[in-house]
Amino acid sequence: MAKKQFKAESKRLLELMINSIYTHKEIFVRELISNASDALDKIYYKTLTDDSLTFSKEDYFIKVTADKQNRILTISDTGIGMSKEELDDNLGVIAKSGSLAFKKEHEIQDGYDIIGQFGVGFYSAFMVSDTVTVISKALGADEAYKWESRGIDGYNIVPWEKETSGTDIILKIKENTEEENYDDFLEEYTLRTIIKKYSDFIRYPIKMDITTRKRKEGTEDEYETVSEEQTVNSMVPIWKKNKSELTAQDYENFYTEKRYGFDKPLKYIHISTDGAVSYNAILYIPEKTPYDFYTKDYEKGLELYSSGVLIMNKSADLLPDYFSFVKGMVDSEDLSLNISREILQHNRQLNLIAKNIKSKIQKELESLLKNDREKYETFYYSFGKQLKYGIYSEFGANKDVLQSLLLFHSSAEKKLVTLDEYISRMPEEQKYIYYAAGESIDRIEKLPQTEVIRDKGYEILYFTDDVDEFAVKMLFAYKEKEFRSVSAKDLGIDTEETDTPQETAKELFAKMRAILSDRVKDVRASKRLKNHPVCLSNEGELSIEMEKILSTMPNNPNLKAEKVLEININHNVFNALENAFENDKEKFALYTELIYNQALLIEGLPISDPLEFTNNICKIM
Ligand code: ADP
Repeated sequence: MAKKQFKAESKRLLELMINSIYTHKEIFVRELISNASDALDKIYYKTLTDDSLTFSKEDYFIKVTADKQNRILTISDTGIGMSKEELDDNLGVIAKSGSLAFKKEHEIQDGYDIIGQFGVGFYSAFMVSDTVTVISKALGADEAYKWESRGIDGYNIVPWEKETSGTDIILKIKENTEEENYDDFLEEYTLRTIIKKYSDFIRYPIKMDITTRKRKEGTEDEYETVSEEQTVNSMVPIWKKNKSELTAQDYENFYTEKRYGFDKPLKYIHISTDGAVSYNAILYIPEKTPYDFYTKDYEKGLELYSSGVLIMNKSADLLPDYFSFVKGMVDSEDLSLNISREILQHNRQLNLIAKNIKSKIQKELESLLKNDREKYETFYYSFGKQLKYGIYSEFGANKDVLQSLLLFHSSAEKKLVTLDEYISRMPEEQKYIYYAAGESIDRIEKLPQTEVIRDKGYEILYFTDDVDEFAVKMLFAYKEKEFRSVSAKDLGIDTEETDTPQETAKELFAKMRAILSDRVKDVRASKRLKNHPVCLSNEGELSIEMEKILSTMPNNPNLKAEKVLEININHNVFNALENAFENDKEKFALYTELIYNQALLIEGLPISDPLEFTNNICKIM
């Protein structure tokens, strides 16, 4: 019979598996047991709706058998099994494997580590085996089949004999090498330890034949070695265990086992409550931003269990959007197993749980900010933007939950600060919380608009995320201190009287405004410039930064900020302008254009005719 070929992408992963230098090869046990458990779950679900099936606990189990002599390790289950087509489809190709999609996008830069962190299911068997054989009989089918593969060159499927439905995964374990002691995976003790470590909470018994020394019956001191079938796992799910029994490692293992993320969780939250609604939950704040987090493909949600049985993979209703980065699960006895999705949305218990979870996450983040600033900043680096979106969305409805969690880069501290920290440092006479928006910290530092504020010794918050200024507009004020852009018309700073322009200057500005016509709303003497000759400020709600951001949006609303050209009348350039104004009208028009374009460039705005701009410079030179 002809060998079948693996699909191209599976081949790639197989190659990785076979040549894997990954050190945690033991995870193949976890992967295969997890598949077996899924197969048992599938029968369990069927019994809920199909009366002809009965679920008797004794019939459903997983068995791990090691045959040292022949180097054979078998993992069997009495689950739903696979038909010939299913063997072909499921094991010939990695269908919906999220890990592969991830690898493709990221070109496997971190090498083999992703394998261990992600879990690649069935294929991990090839890390430790020369040959992988799968004998399976689907529930209700008459025939069984044998699938067999030695690796990349393909696989065979032939009819086989098997009495009961379920699946046997039979691994021919590799010979030892210098780096790896494969014998370990045939040792009772090692296997038992691995199962305990990764699969303790699996809901079905994982059985092994364990050898023990026992006293011979009828004797006083004669012993014999006997083999006895024992259940290795405790079967109590981690979320039902007492917090005091669990270690950080247990929570980390659960995170990996559940494939909540490929990173290590930054923080875990274990909730067990018996209030108006009783539930257990294990929630995680991941460390790294998932690769699709800020795209529309990202799906938020928590796993939802009813009395220990999974009823929904991603219950979105359990998490507000601004906490969409949270991963984990909720188990409640107060939810019915057969509840439909539509009803679930309006379920009172579920809403109560959601509310409760929301405030737990909020408190947890607040305490992290207070007690472990470094960790909080790691979190903020990954997900801070989402909090800011949260403030902006729903017309600011959630700002009370989120505002104290915000961090911004500060001109004074040269690091991230909270709004409370900013306020605590404000001198008494300082009216506003000042901010400057721009592409990068470097660029903002150079903005001429910040000169007067810096001179006063006031702190400025630097906004480098697109969403920052929009979020702050929604906040309007923090603890009664209003936010104020460094480009706003009124900075609330008293400057000296001498800054008031003379009558002639008024005429000069009017003329400039006429030349620039609809490009600026006004031209005036600046109260915020010290060393720079010129800058742009704005009137109205829409800032220049916001105009830039809006112009990059898919359906660009084409909104323009009301720009004001500000001139530093204490600067030499102003003298040159005055001179030209009185003596050479043509030159004056030229200077006006130049100065306006300079201001645009400083703001990072495009100038409409770069060629003319450079020609003008040449003219002067
Ligand atoms: P995943 O478990 O992430 O879907 P795997 O590569 O581990 O990916 O498995 C592929 C598919 O093969 C599973 O989704 C399941 O349909 C099937 N499968 C694997 N192991 C078993 C098993 N022991 N019993 C029944 N089906 C299985």
